[in-house]
Amino acid sequence: MMHRINVVLITIDCLRKDHLGCYGYGKKTSPFIDSLARKSFVFDRAYSIGPNTPHSFPGLFTSNYCLVNKKFSIEGSEYTLATIFKENGYHAIAFNASNPWVSSYQGYNRGFDDFFEFEDLCHAANNFKEVLSDKKTESVEKKIKDLYSKIPLVEKIIYSRRYIYEIFHTLMDSKIPKYILVKNKLRKEFFEKIEKIIYAHNLQPFFLWIHSMDVHDPYCPPRKNQENLGFNYSSYTMNHLARRKRSTLLRMSKRKLKKLINLYDGEINFVDQQLKRIFHILKSKFGEDILIILTSDHGESFYDHNTLEHCSILYDELINIPLIIHLPKQSRQIYVKELVSQMDLLPTIADCIGLGIKPMISKKIRGRSFSNLLVGNTSESNGKLVFSEAAYDQNDNISGLNPSNLAGKNKRYAAIGRKWKLIWDRGKNVYELYDLQNDLQEKHNLAEQHPNVVKLLHRRIIEEKQKSESEYLVSKLSQIRSLIQNEKDFSNSS
Ligand SMILES: [Zn+2]
Repeated sequence: MMHRINVVLITIDCLRKDHLGCYGYGKKTSPFIDSLARKSFVFDRAYSIGPNTPHSFPGLFTSNYCLVNKKFSIEGSEYTLATIFKENGYHAIAFNASNPWVSSYQGYNRGFDDFFEFEDLCHAANNFKEVLSDKKTESVEKKIKDLYSKIPLVEKIIYSRRYIYEIFHTLMDSKIPKYILVKNKLRKEFFEKIEKIIYAHNLQPFFLWIHSMDVHDPYCPPRKNQENLGFNYSSYTMNHLARRKRSTLLRMSKRKLKKLINLYDGEINFVDQQLKRIFHILKSKFGEDILIILTSDHGESFYDHNTLEHCSILYDELINIPLIIHLPKQSRQIYVKELVSQMDLLPTIADCIGLGIKPMISKKIRGRSFSNLLVGNTSESNGKLVFSEAAYDQNDNISGLNPSNLAGKNKRYAAIGRKWKLIWDRGKNVYELYDLQNDLQEKHNLAEQHPNVVKLLHRRIIEEKQKSESEYLVSKLSQIRSLIQNEKDFSNSS
C-alpha cells in the first residue's frame, strides 16, 4: 500500500492501442509513451466498456456500465473516481480539452477542486455540435444526397463516377474548416494552461486527470510532428482529408486513407511530445513517487470493419484499449496478458494506494481490483470475461440518440474471454463469434460453427446485465427510502 502517493491519470481520446510503439507499431509515433512503458505494466488485453466517450467513461469514473443508467451523464451517481480521491484527502485537478461528454455539463466535475475545461464548448452540447459542423459542405452534401435519393440514375452516376464527387470536394476544400481552427487554438491554450497550473501547484497529495482530444478527428498535426514521421502535407490536403473523412457518400480511396492514417499518427506524436514536457515538470517538482495511469476511452476505426471514426460497434480496434500503469520507482516493464476491464481501474487504483471506500459505495462498484497483477501475481483466471456495450441509432452511431433516455432495443453487447468473443446485436438479433487467438482482426464469424459457445456467452451477457440492473435498482430504492426518511424527520421536527 502506498499512502499519500500523487496520482496522474492520462486519457487520450480515440487512441488506438496498435498505433503505439510499445504495442508493436512500426512507426515512431510515441517515443515518450514507449519510454514510460519500458518501466510500467503494459496491458495487452484491457477492454473499455463501450466504443465511444459517453459509453466508455462511466466505466472509468463510476466502475459501472453506462446503459444501466439509461443515460450518458453520470450526474446522479453517488460517487465518482474524483469524489473518492477527495474523500481521502487528495487535491483533485482536471483538465478536459473540451470533450462535452466528460464535461461539468455531464457531471464529471464532481469531486474536483479545480476542473478546467476549455472554451464554452463543454457547457452546451449544442454549441459543440455547431463547432464540429462544417455547414457549407454539409448543406451541399445534403442536397446531393436528397437529389440522388429521388433520382436513382443520379445515385448511379455519383457512385460510378468517383471523380464527380471528388471534384465537389476539390471545390469546397481550399477553406480551413472551423473545427480545425478551433482545435489548433484549443490545444495551444490547453497545454499552456496545464504547464502554468502545475508550475504553481503545491498541494499534495494530488490526483491529476488530463483528458486530451488531440488524437480525435480532425487530424491536423503541427508540421514538426508530421516531419518526425517523414511526411509534410499541405494545408489543402489536411482540410480536404478532414472534410472527406466526415462525408459518408463514398468510401475513401486507399491512397487517401493512407494519408489520413499518417495524420492520425502525427497527432499521436504531438500528444506524446506534450506529455514528455508535462512529466518533466511533474517529476522535477514532485519527484519520482507518482502513480501514472495512461489509457484511452476507445480506439478509432479506419475501415477495419467498414466504418471510420468510433461508431457504436464493438470490434477490438475500438474497445481493446491501451493501458499502461507505472508504479512509483518501477524500473522495468511487465507485459500483462490477462483480461482486464476499464471498470476494474477504480477499485485497482483504490487498492494500490489504500484509498478508503465507504461500504455503501463499495457495493455499487462493478469492477474487480486487479492489484494482484501489479504485485507480480499473474496467475490467470481462466473463466474471466469482460463486457462491453453500446446503444446505436439508424446510422450505427450515437448522434441520433436521446442522451438522457437510452431505453429501447437497439443495443449491442460483447462478451470477451481468453479465446472467444461474442458480439450480440440485440436490435437486429445477429450474433458474431470470433476466435481472438487465431483471428485478431475479427474477420471470420464462427457463430454457426460453434452454437454452444454462442449460447454460453449470450447467457453470460444476460446474467451480467441482470446483475448490474438489479444492483442499480436496489441502490435507487435505498436512495428513495432515505429521501422519504429525511422528509419524515423534517416534518416531525417542524
Ligand atoms: Zn472519446
